[in-house]
Amino acid sequence: MIKFDLNIKDENIIGHGIEAAKPFIIAGPCSVESKEQIDVIAESISKLGVRYLRGGAFKPRTSPNDFQGLGGNGVELLHAAAKKFGMKTVTEILDPMQLDQYYDYIDVIQIGSRNMTSSGLLKIVGQKTAPLQKPVLLKRGFSSTLSELIHAADYIRNEGNPNVLLCLRGIRTFEQIDSELRFTPDLASIIELKNRTDMPVIYDPSHSAGDSRFVNEISKAAIALGADGLLIETHNRPECALTDGKQSITPEQLSRICKYIEKYNSIQ
Ligand code: PEP
Ligand code: MN
Repeated sequence: MIKFDLNIKDENIIGHGIEAAKPFIIAGPCSVESKEQIDVIAESISKLGVRYLRGGAFKPRTSPNDFQGLGGNGVELLHAAAKKFGMKTVTEILDPMQLDQYYDYIDVIQIGSRNMTSSGLLKIVGQKTAPLQKPVLLKRGFSSTLSELIHAADYIRNEGNPNVLLCLRGIRTFEQIDSELRFTPDLASIIELKNRTDMPVIYDPSHSAGDSRFVNEISKAAIALGADGLLIETHNRPECALTDGKQSITPEQLSRICKYIEKYNSIQ
């Protein structure tokens, strides 16, 4: 069994509240779609040693006409699947009401790229998570600078919760004009963030390129550059996924990344 567990010490916070053999993996589908879907994925990735189950329930879609996620029901399904397979949950909230209502179902609160600059939301998340210092995974806005990302994290930390994980997920630049990349992988920023802050740096190889064919190599690069963890969209049937199927890998493909991390750790 691979040892890159990320233990959140709910009642007994030490340091960042996160103790992990690194890098650790957060995996699961872009969106929770049904009980069957999330159960099957949770079961197969938990067997790989993955302890953090992601799954979007409140989806920040560009168009209001696209699938918006299962909402509260999605969070409940994610929580039940995680519990069944001994995992922790990671999911995005879009507003303070969702945070209040589903707070106890979420172990790591995700703030998405599109909300990185919502300072009002960040302050509320900081206040709410401060008492138990519940970890917050803050994703870089896709047109935001690293300084802006660090300032956004400060909005949360200044309210009394130091447990912010910074997540790089690709940026918008010229690359997309004549390539098939969805975003430009901001890999070198891992090094700079590690130099500039004491916060854990997570890399998202799924959104950063937008193509499952690149996930393996980008994951390896992120690890080599010092990422503390990876956030990887994983689906049992990517071709049928309701969101982000093109960039989702299968549990079988994820197992190769897990094996790579194991090998990498053994030679460090
Ligand atoms: C996600 O993690 O599914 C997501 C919506 O990511 P981002 O906010 O980086 O676009
Ligand atoms: Mn996604």
